[in-house]
Amino acid sequence: MNTILLNKISDVKKTVKEWKKSGYSIGFVPTMGALHAGHASLIKKAKETADKVIVSIFVNPIQFCQGEDLDKYPKTLEEDAKLCNEIGVDVIFAPSPKEMYGENVKLNNNELTFVCPPFNIVDCMCGKSRIGHFDGVATVVLKLFNITQPDYAFFGQKDAQQLFILKKMVKDLNLDVEIIPCPLVREQDGLALSSRNTYLSTEERNQALTISKALFYIRELYNKGICDTSVLFDSAISVLDKNIDIEYLEFRNFDTLDKTNEAKDNTLVAIAVKVGKTRLIDNIIL
Ligand code: AMP
Repeated sequence: MNTILLNKISDVKKTVKEWKKSGYSIGFVPTMGALHAGHASLIKKAKETADKVIVSIFVNPIQFCQGEDLDKYPKTLEEDAKLCNEIGVDVIFAPSPKEMYGENVKLNNNELTFVCPPFNIVDCMCGKSRIGHFDGVATVVLKLFNITQPDYAFFGQKDAQQLFILKKMVKDLNLDVEIIPCPLVREQDGLALSSRNTYLSTEERNQALTISKALFYIRELYNKGICDTSVLFDSAISVLDKNIDIEYLEFRNFDTLDKTNEAKDNTLVAIAVKVGKTRLIDNIIL
């Protein structure tokens, strides 16, 4: 099995057209690269589900806000290609920003058509601090869907708000793709896998371990019958390393993203923090 690496939209469209003609179903996994076991779990699920699998690797400039890590985002295309080849990916689509957005285009909504998901679901959780982030995500994912024409697209529950917003986009815009949510994958010691973990020093990584510890503590208390979210919140905060900056720790219904004061089964407990300069997110579903 040899994974083909394509950089041009026209080449992907040509391949997809041939596959469709032969009646193959297509599974699509969008990523920003620096692949890890979390990504691999999505890709494996795509392999099980569809006849042909496309993985995109694209660090999408329009979803980064000013002052974020666009320029230093890890790039490991060679290793990524090796992993994709091992799993049996058919095509990696790794376009340049120019290929995706054209030359000399200012990447704002004066010059580019954007997909803008409803304000109430972007102006909360991660969207509160990352202004415009989910418009950028929805826009690139719709473009990638149009290029790759997937029957199934695979997204991690690690990015729970992103998953919710993209499901809504698919429904509202009548897209012909089934979104398949995939469970969050962790390191053995509990740290949620993230391409950004490579930024962490040893000391910061130890601090970051308390993020999942805090979430697991909430689950433990919930299983003992404690449902008051303010009690659960305070207990989790007491577990978090004092050097961690908490952006939010919220309790929401996983299916609707509505906030809740009472933890129940299917409550999403989502957290975003800064460990040093590195922004990390994590969540559990009760
Ligand atoms: P990214 O490359 O960070 O944009 O992520 C690409 C896809 O992989 C998204 O659907 C993420 O939700 C998913 N993903 C990232 N980290 C994990 C993880 N630890 N477990 C499961 N899925 C993940």
